[in-house]
Amino acid sequence: MEVGLDSSIPVRVRFAPSPTGRMHLGSARTALYDYLLARRTGGKFILRIEDTDRKRFVEGAEQELIDGLRWLGLEYDEGPDIGGPYGPYRQTERQEIYRKWADELIERGHAFYCFCSPDRLERVRQEQLKNKQPVRYDGTCRALEPEEARRRVRAGEKHVIRFKMPYEGETRAYDVMRGEIIWQNRDLDDAILLKSDGLPTYHLAAMADDYEMRITHVIRGSEWLSTFPLHVNLIRALGWPEPVWMHLSVFLKPSGKGKMSKREAAAALNDGYSIFIKDLRDLGYIPEGVLNWIVLMGWGVAEDDVMTLDEMIQRFDIKNLNPAPAAINFSKLDHFNGTHIRRLAVEDLAGRIKPYFERAGYRVDEAKLLRIVPLIRERLVTLDDCLPFAEWFFKENVSPAPEALVAKGLTPAESAAVARKMYNILSALPEITHAAAEPPLRALVEQLGLSPSQVFGILRVAVTGQTVSPPLFESMELLPRHTILQRLQNAIVMLEQM
Ligand code: GLU
Repeated sequence: MEVGLDSSIPVRVRFAPSPTGRMHLGSARTALYDYLLARRTGGKFILRIEDTDRKRFVEGAEQELIDGLRWLGLEYDEGPDIGGPYGPYRQTERQEIYRKWADELIERGHAFYCFCSPDRLERVRQEQLKNKQPVRYDGTCRALEPEEARRRVRAGEKHVIRFKMPYEGETRAYDVMRGEIIWQNRDLDDAILLKSDGLPTYHLAAMADDYEMRITHVIRGSEWLSTFPLHVNLIRALGWPEPVWMHLSVFLKPSGKGKMSKREAAAALNDGYSIFIKDLRDLGYIPEGVLNWIVLMGWGVAEDDVMTLDEMIQRFDIKNLNPAPAAINFSKLDHFNGTHIRRLAVEDLAGRIKPYFERAGYRVDEAKLLRIVPLIRERLVTLDDCLPFAEWFFKENVSPAPEALVAKGLTPAESAAVARKMYNILSALPEITHAAAEPPLRALVEQLGLSPSQVFGILRVAVTGQTVSPPLFESMELLPRHTILQRLQNAIVMLEQM
């Protein structure tokens, strides 16, 4: 069976996160592939919140997911906050739907009431482990007469509803990325569909919603492969149309050995990296860079393909998705982020870095910022790099370390003498432009028999307060003449006092 993508048929895909934690790379990639598939085919991208696991519910998680999608630019067409024709889009608001389908499964003989206590189930489990048998429900309540079971339910006895997995034969299902998968039914469990609190498990809720919401393609993590046969059996028991399935690869830690632990994720943050979308935003990554990084983790195109979201839509094809685990590589994130920063229009980048200067307490002159951007953008890996590179443009005074003012191979007094000569040259100029300042200073370098880096190094540190800066002459043009002269004068005094 060949199931591919006919891009003329609009898909309906859903991103169905559980609000149980933070939005990480894995969820962002699933959402991105959903989005690309929807946009590529002119279909619909739906956000559904799977919040039936109340024990793991995390307050604020849904908002972080929504904010993350918005920040990445993955606009959805239907969702809990915007509604849509198949709402509500939060599972706790859809309970009667799951109850209806659970009853229907019982009716058709594909599910049964189970009254076993957690204690009993635990004893069965221990027994099976001891006897080296597969751990699965032992069928006790499956053997009850339906009438008897119904009577106990009516009498208010605590119960769950389990799926009645066929005991014999095999289950076959098809995953676009992995091909056909075959399971022996005797290895499969009678999973719980409806819990004793009346809430559904993922198995029932997700399948029922995918059906009710007319989902055509399911993209989800490979952690669902083990219960995949349950899901197809459930769908088939109800005669629902089967979606096209894709189980995405897992992410491995940078070493490629195993998944990233909580501790390792925290350590990454110390180095300025994160696997969480909100952190990446706070660390100064831009959505374009993050998306480009994520999209290639599991998509078999050239490793170094620089693409915008629109270009991804043009090129996306599920046939190229790759089931091999992908190791997280943060230096690629830096690479893509820097590349996309350089591709931004000057005004756009200026608008994105302006808040960094403002938060640092500077009043930002827009016209000046627009002239600074071309001088620094080559060097920015993250947006917050703008501060170390360009903060000095906005400072009233700079305070260089005195030792940094001393040129390599010269004494402080000799450096002061060089600085004084530069001062004389610059103060004779009516305006300190690049064109006016560079030739006489280069002539000075020649005349002193020193290297440009010795001489201009002093000037750089004096004017910018730091040893690394954007191109010096272009940068000086953006400072008032008196500021340059004043800073050079201060440097001379500092050098003379050393
Ligand atoms: N709520 C599930 C999860 O967070 C969704 C899996 C799916 O997309 O079906 O993993």
